[in-house]
Amino acid sequence: MSRFMSKRFATLESYVPGEQPKTMQYIKLNTNESPFAPSNGVLEAVSEQGKLLQLYSDPDATNLVKEAARVFGVKESQILMTNGSDEILNFAFMTFGDSEHPFVFPALTYGFYPVFAKVNSIPYKEIPLKSDFSIDPADYHNAGGNVVIANPNAPTGLTLSLAEIEGILKTNPNHVVVIDEAYVDFGGETAIPLVEQYDNLIVTRTFSKSYSMAGARLGFGIANESLIADMNTIKFSTNPYNVNRMTMAAGTAALQDNEYYMNNCRTIVEVREWTKEQLARLGFVMTDSKANFIFAKHPKVSGETLYQQLKERGILVRHFSRSDIADYNRITVGTKEQMEALLLQTKAILQEVN
Ligand code: PMP
Repeated sequence: MSRFMSKRFATLESYVPGEQPKTMQYIKLNTNESPFAPSNGVLEAVSEQGKLLQLYSDPDATNLVKEAARVFGVKESQILMTNGSDEILNFAFMTFGDSEHPFVFPALTYGFYPVFAKVNSIPYKEIPLKSDFSIDPADYHNAGGNVVIANPNAPTGLTLSLAEIEGILKTNPNHVVVIDEAYVDFGGETAIPLVEQYDNLIVTRTFSKSYSMAGARLGFGIANESLIADMNTIKFSTNPYNVNRMTMAAGTAALQDNEYYMNNCRTIVEVREWTKEQLARLGFVMTDSKANFIFAKHPKVSGETLYQQLKERGILVRHFSRSDIADYNRITVGTKEQMEALLLQTKAILQEVN
């Protein structure tokens, strides 16, 4: 820290993203990207917009918002497009959090939430999970602050039902409840239909996983129009052109090709269930993940060893060093061929350690 950096950041520990190797030589199963390329419509849209990069992008993302309103069955005024869902999440913290409005979230979840709280000087409370890693929705009734829950949760992939989400919304009428649906297309139940009824609900979504666009950075929020207007105040006070032209056109085209992406999601779900079965046969213990990743541990090999040995064999998975989950790895579901390679190498590693 230089002597110029604001003291308010003295203890800030920034978010550590997963490894992004500079070469493509790994089978990359570490940051929950889609193994499928974007649709042709997206590629064409990006190339067209590339010719217009001398012009700013539309600060209201009009066409993209229109398309999203159609696909998700909400009003255009209920949508805000952002630079990845990380940005809509940060906007939610910035807009609704302060010393009287702390944030409450699970003790094991997306690692960015405590960072968003700290960087914005917002107090927060972490609620432990149950011993099976599930969230007890009752822990969030009358939470005494704004709530943020990833559904499915990360890195466990476990879900809450719509009725359980509704219970949280009902018991926190004076706080916002953010439901982070980054992984919902792989088997969760979306809370979007509740937006009409609950003026305290914000659903966040991303194009990074189910829409094969992690590298384009596009996410969005769906909420009551007054919450969207509040977050727009923050957006227009920080970065009005937060979504670039190529990404905006790519997102619009992706939504027009929605069926292609939803088909890919169905494939990923099938491969996930098949891989879970194979891993169980090898002795792995797993959560019942409904996301595009598997959270698994093996009684005979530590999480760290498996991660390291897979890496040496050209396969990257995500290992978290925190002690409560150090036995586990989070493995992104890739293509069937990639999962076959993972299983082959895992078998070999297990044989060596036995
Ligand atoms: N929420 C969760 C639960 C995630 O795992 C991620 C991906 N790291 C995000 C949000 C953010 O994704 P993005 O900014 O790429 O939309």
